[in-house]
Amino acid sequence: MNRSAWTIEQSALGRIAIPTLLPAGLALFTTTIDFPGRLDDERARALLDVMRERFGVDAGLATATQVHGAELLRIAGSEPGCWREDGACDALATRERSQALGVKVADCLPVTLFDSIAGVVAGIHSGWRGAAAAIVPSTIERLSRDDSFDPSRALAFLGPSIRVCCFEVGDEVVEALAAAGGDVAAHVDRARGPKPHIDLPGLTRRLLLGAGFDDRRIDDSGICTRCDGSIFHSYRRDGARAGRNLSIAAMR
Ligand SMILES: [Zn+2]
Repeated sequence: MNRSAWTIEQSALGRIAIPTLLPAGLALFTTTIDFPGRLDDERARALLDVMRERFGVDAGLATATQVHGAELLRIAGSEPGCWREDGACDALATRERSQALGVKVADCLPVTLFDSIAGVVAGIHSGWRGAAAAIVPSTIERLSRDDSFDPSRALAFLGPSIRVCCFEVGDEVVEALAAAGGDVAAHVDRARGPKPHIDLPGLTRRLLLGAGFDDRRIDDSGICTRCDGSIFHSYRRDGARAGRNLSIAAMR
């Protein structure tokens, strides 16, 4: 599972990146579909069409208004073809098959957790603020407590995001991450320029290992949103006019 490349395909949504070895029970991809703030009917329908045609899932879709926090929202199953956007959370989880979860990102890291035996999938929006708020460990803790989620057997997928090559930050970001605990220094590169560079996927991998994940079951896309050939939208590269990528996950 521990690979460094996802497959890039063209679709009706634009480019999509898919884990090269996708487990049978999971549909998962990140798309460059762009949308102005909230998803709309046209784009939601296009997403659900791709779910059906490419992954064989007749799904409903849930997204959230994301706030760079650590709240988890559980999503009950919705009718196929329906979509909804709920408020103020950065982690979504469901036990329902054919319920797609959408996470919007333009440099932040989309993290997907999947335990096929417990029958749980979660989509997490984790930028540095989410990491400082411990959104990944706290989501794992809540899923383990309430949903029989077992990190030792579960899979984690780290989608396209900004990477250490491009994620230059101020010292206050390093300090915020350090305040959240753990060995942040191992994921800060001070040799790339005058300012520190953070390895957000590397830090997230360490958090997953600390929460009980097996390193072999963490699949990192290896894709940098900012510098990998303009494949994905990047806030750092494109500024306020940047589009948004959407990471979609559903059990099937
Ligand atoms: Zn880069």
